[in-house]
Amino acid sequence: MTELLLRLAVPTPLYRSFDYLPPRACNPATLQPGQRVRVPFGRRNVVGILLETTGESGIAREKLKHATAIIDDEPILSAELMAMVQWASAYYHCPIGEAMATALPVLLRRGDSPDAPVITCWRLTAAGRQVDVNTLARARRQAATLNLLAQHPDGLARDAIDAPAAVLQALADKGWIESVAHSRPDVTDTTPADTPHTLNADQQQALTTMLASLDHFHPCLLEGVTGSGKTEVYLQLIEKVLSRGQQVLLLVPEIGLTPQLVTRFRQRFQIPLAILHSGLNDRERLTAWQQARSGAAAIVIGTRSAIFTPLARPGLIVVDEEHDASLKQQDGFRYSARDLAVWRARHLDIPVILGSATPSLESLYNVEQGRYQHCTLPERTGNARMPDFKVLDIRNQPLEDGLSYPLLDAIRAHLDAHGQVLLFLNRRGFAPTLMCYECDWVAECRRCDARMTWHHADNHLHCHHCGSQRPVDTVCPQCNSTELHPVGQGTERVGQALAERFPDIERIRIDRDTTRRKGELQALLAQAESGERQLLLGTQMLAKGHHFPNVTLVAILDADHGLFSTDFRASERMAQLIVQVAGRAGRHERRGEVIIQTAHPDHPLLQQLVTRGYPAFARAALAERQAAGLPPATRIALLRAEAANAQEPIDFLEDARQRVSDSGISGVEAWGPVPATMERRAGRYRAQLLLQSEQTGRLQQLLGLLVRQLEGLKSARRVRWSIDVDPADTY
Ligand code: ADP
Ligand code: ZN
Ligand code: ZN
Repeated sequence: MTELLLRLAVPTPLYRSFDYLPPRACNPATLQPGQRVRVPFGRRNVVGILLETTGESGIAREKLKHATAIIDDEPILSAELMAMVQWASAYYHCPIGEAMATALPVLLRRGDSPDAPVITCWRLTAAGRQVDVNTLARARRQAATLNLLAQHPDGLARDAIDAPAAVLQALADKGWIESVAHSRPDVTDTTPADTPHTLNADQQQALTTMLASLDHFHPCLLEGVTGSGKTEVYLQLIEKVLSRGQQVLLLVPEIGLTPQLVTRFRQRFQIPLAILHSGLNDRERLTAWQQARSGAAAIVIGTRSAIFTPLARPGLIVVDEEHDASLKQQDGFRYSARDLAVWRARHLDIPVILGSATPSLESLYNVEQGRYQHCTLPERTGNARMPDFKVLDIRNQPLEDGLSYPLLDAIRAHLDAHGQVLLFLNRRGFAPTLMCYECDWVAECRRCDARMTWHHADNHLHCHHCGSQRPVDTVCPQCNSTELHPVGQGTERVGQALAERFPDIERIRIDRDTTRRKGELQALLAQAESGERQLLLGTQMLAKGHHFPNVTLVAILDADHGLFSTDFRASERMAQLIVQVAGRAGRHERRGEVIIQTAHPDHPLLQQLVTRGYPAFARAALAERQAAGLPPATRIALLRAEAANAQEPIDFLEDARQRVSDSGISGVEAWGPVPATMERRAGRYRAQLLLQSEQTGRLQQLLGLLVRQLEGLKSARRVRWSIDVDPADTY
């Protein structure tokens, strides 16, 4: 009998699996796909995943090496997850080793044990019990954490403490708290229980529909305006799933995983949750993974990569804000967590809910095609009503730091009426351009085809594309004039203007610059939510998912950015952003107002949006896409390449295009190669080839063929290239 061989996924960017002989003392009967195997690889020793055992290898047996050890007795990835990762690796054309590595927590990639969940708990030390928290007035979160732990003498699980790691570390450094290992999750909740709302008729109808399909695959798009009670519907549906003894996976965009959301789940269910987001350290991530896998956590809430979380008893997957671009990974393994959620639900034969106030055109198309059920919540709950939209034509208006006089008047009126005002500008820094008034020179990045943004705080020019910085020029490098001036505005400049115009009003600015340190964003959002600051200014970090009950005016300072972009998704994204930002207004009793400043008040898509709402906009935009043969009516993939000079990416993509023509596969069109819209970025030149087909099968067949050929091309060695299937953007 020939000895079995191990076929492994090994973490390398090569498009193939690797065969090994079993470790010398290995009982073949114990081998199962999904086990980790330690193997020599080049000069390293790496952890691979067993894909299958086989009797045949393309490589002569005497050239094969022995694996060093089988790490696991049982597979750490279930057959279900193995199937999903293998499918996704094939669909997104990502090397299997990289895909597997993305799917596993870092510590498991290194060979740690997947069992024995150790949950870090924190408790007060003797010294900590002596601390007078009133002396910590300047460190509110530390004080709050001490108070919380004082109520839990046995310790409290890490994920039940609403404080960033830095706060815990600071307390530990002072010797006031210590961590202890618990072997099971704690049902620790001081949070008061919360009872379900009585659903309104629309909510009830949506819930009834969903409840009727708990036993099988059933994809449903829940389209509900902001504040219509989508989350309440999820909560009641989840309650049912939990009562059946099953688990729920909830995916949310990074920006949507707020303490408010987690608190809402805790208050409702009082059971251990596994929370997975980018702020966790490796140990915390593994712990959450283990709790999901063992079933100890019945609810798993996480961002994109949580789609790979093992579940002991899966019963339901919910994807909230399903339109959000952050659900698609933009580098490496370029998967869409939303699309994988639907795949996984089908494979598991369980329901999946995609929720949004502004559904993606993809999901609406799937509804149109009869693939997804559509549930709608057209009204806000209670007495809250949708805000009034006003398009403010700024073509003949003088602007003061980006603010028109009618807008300034409106801001004053809302402030006087004790409302909060939210100003949205999706551009940080002081001014997006530094310009010479004598010769029209503008400050550009030396490494990118992009302008530098002037930041007032450090008086530097920053490139928002590559991160490079330099001091602000004082004389024009072209004509030596000193007439250098900032042109346009970012949040920093508008913030200053507001301080001058409304000196007596407390403000908050939320953008990447004001929230760099851990915990800052949460602290600012908490202040915004409490209503103690009346003026809120920010980028999209402020726009999504938050609940600011006192906001009565929302102003979008510049709506024009998205209307004229080279990317075919730009208007969809702009509309989503406008609706999401507008959704922050009037979530309570008081009716909200939304003012949109634009130099293109007659733009048809903008008009659709403000006069007839998102559903009408989406229908029109979808019809446009279909007429133009763009996704979702067709499928596309982008082949991107970059190099230190401009010619090599083009040469490589020309070769690729030739292979497409030679492939004999019909029904796939190739567009390009063309340089990227911003050709040079961080000193590298970028180009792309777009592949498009009406049939996803054809496109897949071609990509499969192409990938194998590209690896061997001579021109491929001089570039860095990647494939992006269903890309989120095409620039
Ligand atoms: P969405 O997820 O659509 O933004 P939420 O579920 O967060 O909406 O609901 C918005 C607000 O309305 C929340 O404060 C929620 O507690 C409340 N709410 C939800 N459903 C109801 C209901 N049936 N009756 C009263 N209030 C409700
Ligand atoms: Zn000049
Ligand atoms: Zn740059």
